[in-house]
Amino acid sequence: MIYYLGLGANLGQCEQTLRRAIERVKKIPDVKLLRVSSFYETEPWGVEGQPNYINAAIKISTELEPLAFLDELQRIEFELGRIRRKRWEARIIDIDILYGAKISCERLTVPHKFLFERDFALIPLAEIFPTLKFNLRGDKVIRVAGSPIDFKFKLVACVDKNFGLGKGGKLLFKIPADLKNFRRLTLGHTIIFGRKTLETFPNQQPLDGRRNIILSRSLKNISGAEIVGSVAELFNVLDTAEENFIIGGAEIFNEFIPYATEIFLTVVDVVAEADTFFPSVDEFTLRGVKTFKGFEFRRYTL
Ligand code: ATP
Ligand code: CA
Ligand code: CA
Repeated sequence: MIYYLGLGANLGQCEQTLRRAIERVKKIPDVKLLRVSSFYETEPWGVEGQPNYINAAIKISTELEPLAFLDELQRIEFELGRIRRKRWEARIIDIDILYGAKISCERLTVPHKFLFERDFALIPLAEIFPTLKFNLRGDKVIRVAGSPIDFKFKLVACVDKNFGLGKGGKLLFKIPADLKNFRRLTLGHTIIFGRKTLETFPNQQPLDGRRNIILSRSLKNISGAEIVGSVAELFNVLDTAEENFIIGGAEIFNEFIPYATEIFLTVVDVVAEADTFFPSVDEFTLRGVKTFKGFEFRRYTL
C-alpha cells in the first residue's frame, strides 16, 4: 500500500526535526521510504499568533494495517517530543497521513479531511505525486534551501540482470570498463559508502582524488576519510553544490534511494547468485542505455 504523509513543525529546530522524523519513518519495520519532497516555510493555517511552519511530504509503501501504521507515526511524534493538548496548537512535530487507500473511522480519515483546503500540504505533496489534481487557495508557501532533496545524491552500482549486487560481502563483478566508468564519474567529487564497501577497496584504503565519507556507527578513525554515524548527521557536513556519489553497499543504497536524483547502473548480462540487491528503481525513468558486449550502462533520473 502506498501512502503520502505530511510532516510539519513550528517549535524547536524544525528542519532538523523533520529530517529526524523522516529517518524514523524509514526505520518502521515493513515501511519503505520512496520519496521526500522539498521543505517549505508556511504560515499557520486556521490559527493566528504562532510561529511559521516547516512542511514536507513523503511517499512510503507499507504492508501495515492503516491503524497500526498510525500508531507507529504517533509513537514517532511522541518520541520526538510532541505533546498533544489541543487541536492546531504549535508543535515540535506533526505527521499526518495525507493520501492513500480510503478509510474513515474514529481515529483515521484518509484522504486527510482538510487536505484539499491546505496549500501547505498540497504543494509539497504535488512534488512527489505529480498526477494529483487540486486547486490552490494562494497561501504563502515558500520552498526553503537545505532539504534532503536539495543535495545531489547519485547512486552508482554494477549489478547482474536481477539487480544483484554482491555475494558473501564481495562484489559480483570486476569489469575494467565499469571500473573506468566509475572512476570517470566520481573523480573530483564526494563518494559515500559503508564499512563493508571500504573492505572491497584496494588495500582497504579510501579512494584517491575524491572526498571519502564512510557511513558507520562502529568505525573510529580512517586516514583519508570522514566517518559519519547517521544519514541525518551527513546532511550537516555536505554542501548542496557538491555531487555526492553513493557507491554501496546494499544498505547504503537503501538509505539514499529516496533522496537520489540520478542512478548509474552497469548491468551485466548474466544472472549471478547474489545475496544482496540494489533497491527498486520504480520511482525513476530510464534516460539512456549504452550497450556493450556482455553489459550495458544505464542512466536513470527522476
Ligand atoms: P489536523 O488533523 O486538522 O491536521 P492535527 O494534526 O493538529 O490537526 P492531531 O492532534 O495531530 O491533529 O491529531 C488528532 C487525531 O487525528 C489523531 O489522534 C488521529 O487519530 C486523528 N486523525 C484522523 N485522520 C488522520 C490522518 N489522516 N492522519 C493523522 N491523524 C489522523
Ligand atoms: Ca495536522
Ligand atoms: Ca496530526
